[in-house]
Amino acid sequence: MRSKIVAGNWKMNKNAAETEALLTELAAKLPDTNAQVMVAPTFVNLAGAVRSLESSVIQVIAQNMHFAESGAYTGEISADMLLSIGVETVILGHSERRAYFKEDDEILAQKVKAALDKNMKVMFCFGEELEDRKSGNHFNVVESQLKNALFSLDASAWSSIILAYEPVWAIGTGETASPEQAQEMHAFIRKTITEAYNATIAGNVSILYGGSVKPANAKEIFGKPDVDGGLIGGASLKADDFVAIIGAI
Ligand code: PEP
Repeated sequence: MRSKIVAGNWKMNKNAAETEALLTELAAKLPDTNAQVMVAPTFVNLAGAVRSLESSVIQVIAQNMHFAESGAYTGEISADMLLSIGVETVILGHSERRAYFKEDDEILAQKVKAALDKNMKVMFCFGEELEDRKSGNHFNVVESQLKNALFSLDASAWSSIILAYEPVWAIGTGETASPEQAQEMHAFIRKTITEAYNATIAGNVSILYGGSVKPANAKEIFGKPDVDGGLIGGASLKADDFVAIIGAI
């Protein structure tokens, strides 16, 4: 059975005091839910966030990590460092990492392997650009992103994978994929995984939608049968909005 998940990607927002304040508000306002709730503050605030949420069900996850175990990689963070502060899940492949930091499928495949080798969970992001959708190439792009980064994994690794389909044209733009567009792509993703592995793996993996999810559109998107929740950027920075989105699942 796959899990419902709502995750907040805080990106490069919130200093230490603001992080603490938002987490306190979130923990206090969290509605009763069967969904797993996750937040991804910046690296410097992760350890504090883990401490603040010690008695909460909200999980703290990381926005990124390096593929090497340790060494001369100035400014980078390893899986062991995350694990040492109690962070067990990492977002990899976010479109901003791909676009601004040139993380390609090959690098992402290494990062995924490095995280899984350490028994971390991976929230793997992928999705097409606007031109891909306009030219009708979006299914091919998504299939190749999945294939290049994930399809050489052993079947057993898939219990540690969460997928987040995030069409790049919908991230931070206010433009959302329609619930039908999200469902169509999520169903395609499950079909692609069924062909590469089997229907059990495809049926058990949680596939989140990300891209301008807000309280006003969350319910309709989350209502689609192959959408298992959301990865939320902008709207996760306001406790009331994030809580409303969690409530919508
Ligand atoms: C994201 O960054 O993963 C995201 C979905 O952002 P937003 O919700 O702001 O579009």
